[in-house]
Amino acid sequence: MKVKRYKHCRKVLTFYQKNFGFNVPYKVLIDGTFCKAALNFKVNISEQLPKYFKSEVQLCTTECATAECEALGTLLYGPLKVLQQFEILRCGHRPPTTAAKCMLSRIKKNNVHKFMLATQDEELTTAVKKHPGVPLLYIAYNTITLEAPTDFSKQSANEQLNSKMAPSEYEIIGKLKKEMFGEEEITKKKKKKRKGVNPLSCKKKKTRPGLDNAVKNKKKCRKRKRLKATGPITEQLLQSLRKSV
Ligand SMILES: [Zn+2]
Repeated sequence: MKVKRYKHCRKVLTFYQKNFGFNVPYKVLIDGTFCKAALNFKVNISEQLPKYFKSEVQLCTTECATAECEALGTLLYGPLKVLQQFEILRCGHRPPTTAAKCMLSRIKKNNVHKFMLATQDEELTTAVKKHPGVPLLYIAYNTITLEAPTDFSKQSANEQLNSKMAPSEYEIIGKLKKEMFGEEEITKKKKKKRKGVNPLSCKKKKTRPGLDNAVKNKKKCRKRKRLKATGPITEQLLQSLRKSV
């Protein structure tokens, strides 16, 4: 019986770890009704819960839960003393509201702080089950029991898993492209090495008829000028020299 009980606990904890991000140390939010049942069945919460989970736990309650016990006086004096052993979370409810409303406000908005709820309050239990991802603890047959996840929690976990598995828009577009245009060729074309002389080096110079003729004429002119300037002058000089001699 004990082995079955621990196996069940491990299975449920694994579910919440995988699907809703719960982790050690588990934070357990406890109200006065749970403490009252623990006293009646002589269950020591601080001792039993870590043994049941086989891991560290963080036990806490709220200001409103302790205020509710205080308001009921001697009727809930015992549970109040038990609650005061745990960490009392500030809630800001002024004046204090009922423990049930206070605890519900903690687990709303997707139970961001990953609280487990330990209560014997049936109304609170029913209200909590409308929110996915909130593990419930109760006392029955002198033992603490972790309730199996609700269908709502299971459905929510499946939806989250499906959304993670669903292909992204880019993947869908990529797939459609492949279907329409086929697989892209990834082969790289090798560059062919050119052999022999670089054809660019053999390229004829561009002829610019007008400009080229002008350059040629200029050269001719220079040559002629030189001949004219040097030839006859030297001959004349030679002749005059001969005459003078
Ligand atoms: Zn409160």
